[in-house]
Amino acid sequence: MTTPPSASLHRLRGLVLPLVVLVIGACASAGRAGGQAGAATLPALDSARLLADVFRLSHDSMGGRPAGSAGNAKARAWLVSELRRLGLEPVSGSHEHPFAVARRGSADSLRGVNVLGMIRGRSAEAKVLVVSAHYDHVPPRNGVVYNGADDNASGTSTLLQMAAHFRANRPEHSIVFAFWDAEEMGLVGARAFVANPPMALASIVANVNLDMVARGDKGELYAAGATPYPQMRPILESLVPQAAVTLRLGHDSGGGQDDWTNQSDQGAFHAAKIPFVYFGVEDHPDYHQPTDDPEKIDGKFFYGAARTIAAFVVRLDRAALTWPARP
Ligand SMILES: [Zn+2]
Repeated sequence: MTTPPSASLHRLRGLVLPLVVLVIGACASAGRAGGQAGAATLPALDSARLLADVFRLSHDSMGGRPAGSAGNAKARAWLVSELRRLGLEPVSGSHEHPFAVARRGSADSLRGVNVLGMIRGRSAEAKVLVVSAHYDHVPPRNGVVYNGADDNASGTSTLLQMAAHFRANRPEHSIVFAFWDAEEMGLVGARAFVANPPMALASIVANVNLDMVARGDKGELYAAGATPYPQMRPILESLVPQAAVTLRLGHDSGGGQDDWTNQSDQGAFHAAKIPFVYFGVEDHPDYHQPTDDPEKIDGKFFYGAARTIAAFVVRLDRAALTWPARP
């Protein structure tokens, strides 16, 4: 590995600046007044499996799942078996999509592998929503495993439960569930997908990316993307009063450390002008530490966040039917 944990992308996230708080103030106040009143309208997911899968992925036997490692391959094999069990189709003939990861200061490259599975849409099959989360994390240091429970076993597990939901409730658009590899080395898996896409980029309606969605230390889940892509704002704002967690909009403008646009895999889609919404929590004391363990997760917050994100994808799937085609 050439990228130490301290240099990887999320590390740039700092505390929220007062300016950002002001910018998002209007939406945030709606979030505070919201809460759980409308939770009955959110998709029901398998909460026990949601949490059990985070424990599985962040077990020491997975070694933190860094790209190119045996633990990463073990996690990947399990993800593929889950996609098959859930009945998701391969994409371009395979669930596994390898790519090369250049290593700084070295001529040889490392092999990363994205895992993809598709559900065909009912009325807009040729148009695709890419719903994604990275499954890799950072390598051990001095023999200590960084389990990456929140970052990003949480998003990975949420994607599997969303896939189960949409298998039982067929979407209008086709949905590709994408599990990225080598995010921690610079969004490499997502960039490889966009550079060599298995479908025309113009057919991709939007990317919904999940990265760190389980830690409810503040009870808040952020949705970024409505500033660069205002078509997302009414969908998100209508969800705020019904969300099962405090849903706040922000972290998507200004270009500084508190602008998360390019700090996870949605950045690769934004670079191709594909609209995105990113869901995640603010940094916590265990962020990129060996203590990012599943025992630290508040199951109630995590389940609420997963249901809220699933509800967003349901609403995006309907709303985007009337959007004009992208150039
Ligand atoms: Zn992450």
